[in-house]
Amino acid sequence: MDKAHDLCATARSTPGGCLLANQVQILDQIHESVITMDLGGFITGWNKGAEQLFGYSTDEAVGKHILFLYADPDAEDDSEGFHDAFLENGGREMEVRRRRKSGEIFWASLQLSLNRDEMGQPMGLIGYLSDITARVEAEKSMRLQSRIFEHSSESILITDTDKRILSVNPAFIKITGYSEVEVVGQTPHFMRSERHTIKFYEDIWRHVEEEGCWHGEVWTRRKDGRDFPSWASISLVRNRQDQVVHYFSIFTDITERKLAEERIHHLAYYDDLTGLPNRSLLYKLIDQALVEAQRNRLHGALLFIDLNRFKPINDTLGHAIGDRLLQQVGERLRVAVRSEDVVARLGGDEFVVALFDITRREHATVVAQKIMTALDPPFWIEAHELKISASIGISIYPRDGFDTESLLRMADIAMYRAKQSGQDGYAFYSHEMNQRALDRLKIESGLRHGIDNGELLLHYQPKVDIASGRIVGAEALVRWYPPSGSMVPPGEFIPIAEESGLIVRLSAWVLEAALAQVQRWRAAGLPLVKIAVNLSARDFSPSLAERLQLLLDSHDVPPEWLELEITEGMLTHSSDEVVAMMDALNALGVSLALDDFGTGYSSLSYLKRFPIHTLKIDQSFVRGIPHDGNDCAIAGAIVSIAQRLGHNVIAEGVETHAQLEFLKALGCQEIQGYLFSPPVPPEKLEAMIRAGKTL
Ligand code: C2E
Ligand code: MG
Ligand code: MG
Repeated sequence: MDKAHDLCATARSTPGGCLLANQVQILDQIHESVITMDLGGFITGWNKGAEQLFGYSTDEAVGKHILFLYADPDAEDDSEGFHDAFLENGGREMEVRRRRKSGEIFWASLQLSLNRDEMGQPMGLIGYLSDITARVEAEKSMRLQSRIFEHSSESILITDTDKRILSVNPAFIKITGYSEVEVVGQTPHFMRSERHTIKFYEDIWRHVEEEGCWHGEVWTRRKDGRDFPSWASISLVRNRQDQVVHYFSIFTDITERKLAEERIHHLAYYDDLTGLPNRSLLYKLIDQALVEAQRNRLHGALLFIDLNRFKPINDTLGHAIGDRLLQQVGERLRVAVRSEDVVARLGGDEFVVALFDITRREHATVVAQKIMTALDPPFWIEAHELKISASIGISIYPRDGFDTESLLRMADIAMYRAKQSGQDGYAFYSHEMNQRALDRLKIESGLRHGIDNGELLLHYQPKVDIASGRIVGAEALVRWYPPSGSMVPPGEFIPIAEESGLIVRLSAWVLEAALAQVQRWRAAGLPLVKIAVNLSARDFSPSLAERLQLLLDSHDVPPEWLELEITEGMLTHSSDEVVAMMDALNALGVSLALDDFGTGYSSLSYLKRFPIHTLKIDQSFVRGIPHDGNDCAIAGAIVSIAQRLGHNVIAEGVETHAQLEFLKALGCQEIQGYLFSPPVPPEKLEAMIRAGKTL
């Protein structure tokens, strides 16, 4: 049946006649659902909109009581609303819940109005309904969102497109310490930590613009100036036109989590007792270092350290004391080596020290000795005076192995060997290294006593001016006569003295002896000869000039009597400091010569900066003169460099006339060598000078 007609049928029964029928037709065209009912609430009209909204046809709806459309027919609010509208005598709009034929419940906006007859008497009701589910849901979710915003434990910050803060939530205020008024209107720059670079932030924003969001860890600054790690996400919000309208950032303080992570990491990789790296971390560190060492062709050494006499202490005094002893041992080991060396505890009383930037394998012995010295003083634990020592096994990379596993095994084997020898000490895995270490040890301990025991002597080798043929200076060269045997040449003990640090005492002795000698010569009326003393890199310290001044004063020696020979090796370090030290020496009036010139790596630009007087052509170049073309060319080059820079030049190790002639032709001014004289005792030098010996 035609629904419009049906509604019209109802309308026709009213005094308005077919005029109303027309209106009903119009109503049918309206999208909104329009329902008419009598004063008892029974449906009298049902348009197309109502049909679409509820799913009931006109036949199904007309005649039924309006309550059949209610989501909850017993709900009071709805029935009250019905009465109110009725009593108020007018229209009223309300939000109601209704049920479709399908059972689905929806929100509708309901407008009720009274329908009156010509006499003004109420004759029915008209209800206009529209589905507002979407709006109600949106409002609900808005309310939900604002509750989330208010109550979230995560900080939330919303900005406009200029990144100026529009609002922040209470968690933000709690976490950062700022109040809302302090931040609204600002850009979040004030929360930036100095731990990040500008680029870091630029990258974040680029990512946000390109991808719409960014997540990650970022350090954030609190109002009190302290930084905290946070996990942050920054996103942008676009409108329907795809324009960015807001940015928002959500972040949480992850300090606790970070600490927990660190604790876990620490538990996994560090020894609980000593805080040193454990076996796992040691392997990792060595693996890494080996890759590096291989790339840079470096040497490395592993020192496997096993404590002696630890077990009886642990057994008799108890584990608590044993533990404290191990802690202190770990501490002493840590202090004994450099910060870049690795100290680890393998477990029990076993420790490992790994060195990975040693230039000479012998340096491992220096460290082994340092470790033994560090463990030497007694440990004091709860009034117990405890003495322990260590056996140390050393393996060398790459000679004894290429990987962590085998290097550790070799060091372990060497440690057993050291232990078996019955005394505290160290042993290398390789026999040859062992022998070398023993020889070194003999020389070092012999020299240690020898310096004070009067076993050292100075010989002097004249330096001759080629033009006049006369002696103009002499180089003091140290000689060692140990009581046990024959003279040990300086080439054998100087490098060991340098490595062990003994060189400082040795040089002090040489300087003292040379100046005392000059003092005697001056008193005896000997004419001026410049006495050259060799110095090592370790002697070359900022206090050197001051010490020299004192020495010169105490021996009453004018500075022009003294020359210092230094090697190129010293100059490659921090050049500014070196130049300053050289200037100080020059200010004293002492002259400087660059020894063994040509064997080092000093660049010419370095050379220009150093305030030196003399270049000494190394004897390795003089040896080949005049037959070896290369040697001749190098000697020639050195002479011309010296001339260009205004330096004096002397050739050492000159043994033949042919060499002399060649050097003379080059323009070299002085020579030193067996041709004129080997190094001789001081009396002999004096005699030569007095006799006026010439070339
Ligand atoms: P150097 O300073 O280059 O000394 C020159 C070396 O060449 C001396 O060796 C000298 O005996 C040797 N020599 C001299 N003329 C000739 C020659 O015509 N032919 C050959 N083949 N050799 C010649 P020595 O005395 O054995 O000293 C070796 C190195 O030991 C020195 O080289 C120097 O670097 C170091 N040295 C010696 N005495 C001292 C010292 O008192 N302090 C320091 N720090 N180093 C010293
Ligand atoms: Mg020299
Ligand atoms: Mg030399």
